[in-house]
Amino acid sequence: MGREVRRVPLGFDWPQNKVWEGFLSPDKFDEDPCPDCKSGYSPQAQNLYDLWYGKIPFDPASTGSTPWRHDSPAVRAFAERNVGNAPDYYGTGEISIVREAQRLASLFNGQWSCHLSQDDVDALVAGGRLYDFTHDVVPGKGWQPKPTPVAPTAAEVNEWSLRSMGHDSINAHVVIKARCKREGVTDTCPTCDGHAGLERYEGQRAEAEAWEPTDPPEGEGWQLWETVSEGSPISPVFDSADGLAGWMSDPARGDRWVPGDVARKFVEEGWAPTGVLSAGHGFQSGVEAIGWNDKA
Ligand SMILES: [Zn+2]
Repeated sequence: MGREVRRVPLGFDWPQNKVWEGFLSPDKFDEDPCPDCKSGYSPQAQNLYDLWYGKIPFDPASTGSTPWRHDSPAVRAFAERNVGNAPDYYGTGEISIVREAQRLASLFNGQWSCHLSQDDVDALVAGGRLYDFTHDVVPGKGWQPKPTPVAPTAAEVNEWSLRSMGHDSINAHVVIKARCKREGVTDTCPTCDGHAGLERYEGQRAEAEAWEPTDPPEGEGWQLWETVSEGSPISPVFDSADGLAGWMSDPARGDRWVPGDVARKFVEEGWAPTGVLSAGHGFQSGVEAIGWNDKA
C-alpha cells in the first residue's frame, strides 16, 4: 500500500519526500570497510561464492555433475518459456528455441548453483532448505514434513532449480558454509569476523545494534506519509481529517487524485487512537478493498 496517516504537530515542518531523520541509522554507525573481504566471507568462501554465481570459471565435472544440453528437458522448457514470453526479442519457431536453449545451457554450465553435488544437496536438506522435496503443504497447517522422509538426489535438485525460481542467497550461503566445513577451511573472514567492516571506535557495533528508529513527534495535525521508503511526509500538515481528505481528493492532484469518499475513509481508518497504523494493516481492508491504487 505504502501510505499512512500520521498525527504530527501543526507546526511540523519536516520537508516532504525526505525520509524522516529518526528512521535512518545515523552515519556515525558506518564502519570502515574490511580491507580483506567484500562480504564477510573468507577468501576460500568468496571463491566458492564466485563459483556459485559463475563469476569465475566453473566446471560441472568438479561436482560430479553432468553438463546441461540444449535438449535437456528442463533447459528446453526454460527456453520455450523465455521465447514464448518475448517473441519480439527472441524470434519465433524452433530455431529460436534451440538458440535460446543453447545459450541457457552454456550459462547454467558455468554456475555451481546449477550443478550441486550430493553433499551440497544433503546440506540443504539438513538446513531445512528444500521443502519442495521434503515437505507437503497441508491445508490449515502449512508446510509439514512428508510422512516418509525424502532424500532428493543431486540430479533431481539441479533439475528442480531450473524449473523453479532456483536457489536463493540463503541456499548459496548454506551450501558454501557446508563445503568450507567439509574442506576444513573457515568460511568467515578472520580480519573482520564476518562483519565485512571494522569498528571505527570500540563499542560502535554495539551502539549501532542498540539503535532504534524514533517516530516523528505526535500532535494535533493530520499528514499523509509514504512508507515505500523508510517513511516520509508527502502532504502538508492539516488541522483536521477533512482538510487532509480534501487535499487528497483535490482534482488538481492529477494522477494522484483520490475520490472524496475513498480519501475520507482512508483518513479515518489510517488513524487509530492507539497510535499510528503500520502500513499494510488496519486501513488495508478499508482502502485497498475500495480499490485505491495510488502510484508508488
Ligand atoms: Zn573481512
